[in-house]
Amino acid sequence: MKKRILILGGGFGGVYTALHLEKTLARDPDVSITLVNRENFFLFTPMLHEVAASDLDLTNIVSPIRKLLKRVQFFEGDVASIDLPNKTVKLVHGSDHHCHDTPFDYLVLSLGASTNFYNLPGVQERAVTMKTLGDAVLLRNRIIAALEEADTECAAAFRKPLLTFVVAGGGFAGVETIGGLNDFLRSSLKFYPNIKNEDIRTVVVHSGQTILPELGEELGSYAQNKLAKHQVEIITNAKLAEATDEGVKLTNGQFIPTRHIIWTAGTTANPLLGTLPCALDRGRVKVNEYFEVEGHPNVWALGDSAVVPDLSTGKFCPPTAQHALRQGKVLAHNITVAVRGGNKKAFNFKQLGSLAAIGRRAGVAKILGFKFSGFIAWFLWRTIYLSKLPRFEKKLRVALDWTLDLFFSKDLVQFITPRAETMSTGESAPPSRDVHQHDSTAMASAGTV
Ligand SMILES: Cc1cc2nc3c(=O)[nH]c(=O)nc-3n(C[C@H](O)[C@H](O)[C@H](O)COP(=O)(O)OP(=O)(O)OC[C@H]3O[C@@H](n4cnc5c(N)ncnc54)[C@H](O)[C@@H]3O)c2cc1C
Repeated sequence: MKKRILILGGGFGGVYTALHLEKTLARDPDVSITLVNRENFFLFTPMLHEVAASDLDLTNIVSPIRKLLKRVQFFEGDVASIDLPNKTVKLVHGSDHHCHDTPFDYLVLSLGASTNFYNLPGVQERAVTMKTLGDAVLLRNRIIAALEEADTECAAAFRKPLLTFVVAGGGFAGVETIGGLNDFLRSSLKFYPNIKNEDIRTVVVHSGQTILPELGEELGSYAQNKLAKHQVEIITNAKLAEATDEGVKLTNGQFIPTRHIIWTAGTTANPLLGTLPCALDRGRVKVNEYFEVEGHPNVWALGDSAVVPDLSTGKFCPPTAQHALRQGKVLAHNITVAVRGGNKKAFNFKQLGSLAAIGRRAGVAKILGFKFSGFIAWFLWRTIYLSKLPRFEKKLRVALDWTLDLFFSKDLVQFITPRAETMSTGESAPPSRDVHQHDSTAMASAGTV
């Protein structure tokens, strides 16, 4: 009987493990390898904010997993439960959500992490997260919808909260998102004659003293000053306390009237991991330097799902794509050794550095101990991440998008309009709350016929 290897999760950890197994075990007729993922694509998260900010087309930062993997099989579905003692995984898929009990001999846990809203009142229901492709498309859509609505005369009374965007979290995801959306909003104003630059308010709320703490005080302060110059408000030493339909309340007592909250301030372990009978650290699976789960032979975990010892620092690996993709390579070797025999490899990688794009062709970067800021850091960000994006086709498309960006303004097409949503669900249009007497000149200038 074939030896069955099951990889759960098609993010950086899972896909890179599979890509490296393609060169070894996937060629073996006595081995079957299957990767399971909720979506049929691999998402390149470092460029997610560029989709939200209309810098990149949405399909350019994702790759169909079936095009990435030639020999490893792919199954699109949801992992509903994992039974380690009986070596079975329950998968749910299809339009009727039916189940499959899928047995395995070897298992890789690479299910990533989930968002943590810390049970803050009203936040989860109202906030957009920045984790999936759907999140980025939703945020882009909301930005455009807000501009469209704010440009009409009937929005005059609530134009300010409609055009106030609050990002919770001053880490990489939060800073890159606020930088991108601030550029998108302000550069689109020439198409919205009734909106003034001062109507727009973009705010980032950060719990520490300086944003981007991973890059240190100097680069964090640079990013803070640069964003402030671009009219982004930075509120430090504060957190979101509560969200209502009117706005957000902060822990420092401040209230910001807004319709838009973007949450990048907390992650937690994937809830499925909490059901496993193995040692966990804050919900993530504890593994050794070979990614082995103690007490469960032939079960491994990596990426954001695992707590992996960092032999270069004596601590644990940070949850980054940079680590997960390199862990995938070493894990593929160790799986091959588990099937065929040989010497295992320990994961030993020294982080090369970190980079963040902060808008208007500026960035901050710390690479091999050297600090960069401004245009050069932004250029490094683009060059390095473009080189990391899988598949030549996508690299070319992104490079083209970026080149065209130099000559044309950002696209303002809404992918989903409220009308399309209503029609697709077969509902009739909701009754309007008020009847507005429109001034035909204002309507015409708003581009509405
Ligand atoms: C906005 C953003 C920007 C980032 N920028 C950077 C950056 O610039 N540099 C960097 O190094 N890191 C960055 N990161 C972090 C990086 O994305 C993660 O560390 C990395 O993705 C971890 O890889 P992973 O394979 O563990 O998890 P993921 O890449 O999250 O993959 C997990 C996969 O499992 C799937 N999954 C989860 N649950 C189930 C289930 N029940 N059933 C089926 N499938 C499931 C998910 O759909 C996903 O495809 C960023 C993260 C975000 C959110």
